[in-house]
Amino acid sequence: MCGIIAYVGERDAYPIIDKGILRLEYRGYDSSGIGLLKADGTMNIYKKKGKYKELDKLVRGKDLNGNVGIGHIRWATHGEVSDQNAHPHVSDDGNIAVIHNGIIENYHSLRTELIKRDHQFVSGTDTEVLANLFSDIRKKNQLPLEECVRIGLQEVIGAYAIVVISKEEPNKLVAAKLSSSMLIGYGEDGYFVASDPAPLIEYTRKVTYLEDNQIAILEKDKDIIIKSITDNTPYTPYIEELKHNLEDLEKGGFDHFMLKEIFEQPRALYDSIRGRTDFENFKITLGGVKEYENAFKQAKRLIFVAC
Ligand code: GLU
Repeated sequence: MCGIIAYVGERDAYPIIDKGILRLEYRGYDSSGIGLLKADGTMNIYKKKGKYKELDKLVRGKDLNGNVGIGHIRWATHGEVSDQNAHPHVSDDGNIAVIHNGIIENYHSLRTELIKRDHQFVSGTDTEVLANLFSDIRKKNQLPLEECVRIGLQEVIGAYAIVVISKEEPNKLVAAKLSSSMLIGYGEDGYFVASDPAPLIEYTRKVTYLEDNQIAILEKDKDIIIKSITDNTPYTPYIEELKHNLEDLEKGGFDHFMLKEIFEQPRALYDSIRGRTDFENFKITLGGVKEYENAFKQAKRLIFVAC
């Protein structure tokens, strides 16, 4: 399972993202990445395959300033494990960066459409389509970032928890979710976004869990805005108190990590197939396979390969 941590506020974002990624490591991952944004619009992206210590080595001596930061640990679903495929993914104009947990089921058709509109792709991931999709909308309409994200997501089929930043709005985080977990933390000097509570608990216990189909706009010194992705209906954030301590969170309330992992198996299986499964209608959709449907139907033999 992959993980997200993001921050916007008064503090330097890097130490929060750095520590946050370490708190998320227990989830398992194959690569990691960080995006930092400064008030003057400078955006620095660092990403690396392998353990987080590889990224840690890479960033030594680099520019780690900025009050806005996004961090991600990836568990590849689309595209090999490589530096290029690690998150954040940046739009081809360099303006928008996205981190994403989940699967964009219709990424292939979105990508084809965006290539027709002269967008360039440099990764093999489904996530990169989001960055170019949002930037495409931005270029045509000059809308605020959150509107570009909201309109773009209406074209997206799949499962996602995303955080988006833009050089053009350097004090802002936009977060959205569907079928992947995401929560917002309220600190004394800024907002946090994370895929689970572990990276937040040392900064705040006041959190709001985003619901499916909601988008949140988080800006330094402004009230949080939560709206519906479909029709912009505003929601009053429901703020709750995290009661757990860090160790409980990391062990999920179990006495031992091994027990936790055993009891997590149904959830892990569910998470693995949820982006491809319509549980209400008992229908499976395998992205990338659809165009070969007829060939499959006529096949005399199917060989399943797994690891
Ligand atoms: N589907 C995305 C990828 O392969 C995100 C995977 C994840 O959830 O870490 O990069």
